[in-house]
Amino acid sequence: MEDSSNCIPLQPQLESTKRGPPVGIFGTGDFGRSLGYKLLQCGYIVIYGSRNPNASDLIPKGALVLSHAEVAKNCDTIIVAIHREHYTFLTSFVDILKGKVLVDVSNNLKINQYPESNAQHLASLLPGANVVKAFNTVSAWALQSGALDASKQVFLCGDDSKAKESVMEITRSLGLTPLDQGTLLAAKEIENYPLQLFPIWRLPCYICAGLTIFFFLYCLVIKVIEPSVTKKEDNSYMIMISIANEIFPIVSLVLLALVYLPGLLAAIIQLYRGTKYSRFPDWLDKWLLCRKQLGLIALAYGFLHAIYTLVMPIRYDYRWWSNYYLKEQIKSNRTYPFDSSHAWLSDSYVALGILGFFFFLLLGITSLPSVSNAVNWREFRFVQSKLGYLTLVLCTAHTLVYGGNRFICCTFYRWHLPPAFVLSLIIPCAVLVMKFILVIPCIDQRITKIRQGWEQKAKEPSC
Ligand code: NAP
Repeated sequence: MEDSSNCIPLQPQLESTKRGPPVGIFGTGDFGRSLGYKLLQCGYIVIYGSRNPNASDLIPKGALVLSHAEVAKNCDTIIVAIHREHYTFLTSFVDILKGKVLVDVSNNLKINQYPESNAQHLASLLPGANVVKAFNTVSAWALQSGALDASKQVFLCGDDSKAKESVMEITRSLGLTPLDQGTLLAAKEIENYPLQLFPIWRLPCYICAGLTIFFFLYCLVIKVIEPSVTKKEDNSYMIMISIANEIFPIVSLVLLALVYLPGLLAAIIQLYRGTKYSRFPDWLDKWLLCRKQLGLIALAYGFLHAIYTLVMPIRYDYRWWSNYYLKEQIKSNRTYPFDSSHAWLSDSYVALGILGFFFFLLLGITSLPSVSNAVNWREFRFVQSKLGYLTLVLCTAHTLVYGGNRFICCTFYRWHLPPAFVLSLIIPCAVLVMKFILVIPCIDQRITKIRQGWEQKAKEPSC
């Protein structure tokens, strides 16, 4: 039961209010204290409602600690910094809380843990109170340490627009950005936000993991299992660097092509339908949305390929084969002639790889929010589209030149399987061919018209 005998006369303190009426906070736990500290810093008067008003030494300096009933009487806005499981005690203040703004900041442990959101549950316990969901995506640590750059957005929702506006005002004065999500129905979604684990990264990570596993097994069969079965050779050491350094560029190239493929498919669909005003299939929508993440994973794999390639000369295997060829020449007393066409191929292959990697890095840098915010839409499109395709062309050419005569040399086809890099070229080449067709002027003009809102009229039914 609440004890109101130690009621502190609030009036003299309220007169010193620097910014609006006092804000109440139920609960003196981690979040209540952090939010109270921030509110005090921003000039608010903060009054805590606690089960034990005299107990805590951790209360921010300058805040009052009273009973819940006193806070409910004296504050129009009260932040409920208490876990949902303890909300039932609030029903004893149902009359005092009528017309007050109650801010629900609570989170759950699991996505969709309860049938209704915590905010809706609070509203059902306290009919007449104006419940607003807010601040649940901001952490206590970020509030206290001031490290709010990454999470300045405060999603909020509520049924009463005046109540919502007053919470938005507080949010702005704390230096945060309120984002109105609508009525209290949106609370469930807002409560799920902090529990989501990299939602946009999930699909790209699955695609990347699937490709990595597939190409690892493929290379294992060709490079380790086949020599072991047919020639009794133990090439298992190749797993660590040779196979890894084959998988990284292959997956990187395929992922880079997958960044551009959905845009081409979308253009083909628009051409076929003759309009841009119809929805793409769901899978294509999801794919279009995760292109940046696919590109960043592709860049990370490309980066690993560059590092693995640099360490090649210090490998035992590499040095052994160099010495072997040297000894062969000494033994046979002849020098292998300098093959300038081979030198051309090898230099071209390296140069294309370096250039491709450079443009790939440029693409990655321009996708950073701080950089993309500094360029206009046309500049951003130029980099992401034109330079993106140039990167794809360079990386595909790098792989083609690497292949050289291996494409036709049957010793590279173990158990009739083509080398892994041949498979890696299928999607990039298909993307480049599709792009080439779509930029043919008559097709390109039609796509541009459709994207500007032109619609192909439905054919009149013939009599
Ligand atoms: P906490 O440290 O456990 O504090 C909860 C407070 O609730 C306690 O200090 C206590 O305050 C009060 N309380 C506990 N049992 C009670 C009961 N049976 N009846 C009435 N009051 C009771 O938790 P917290 O981390 O501050 O989190 C509070 C709320 O903020 C939660 O809903 C949480 O999901 C949300 N939140 C937390 C964070 C965060 O970073 N921590 C971030 C976003 C949202 P008194 O002893 O003063 O009564």
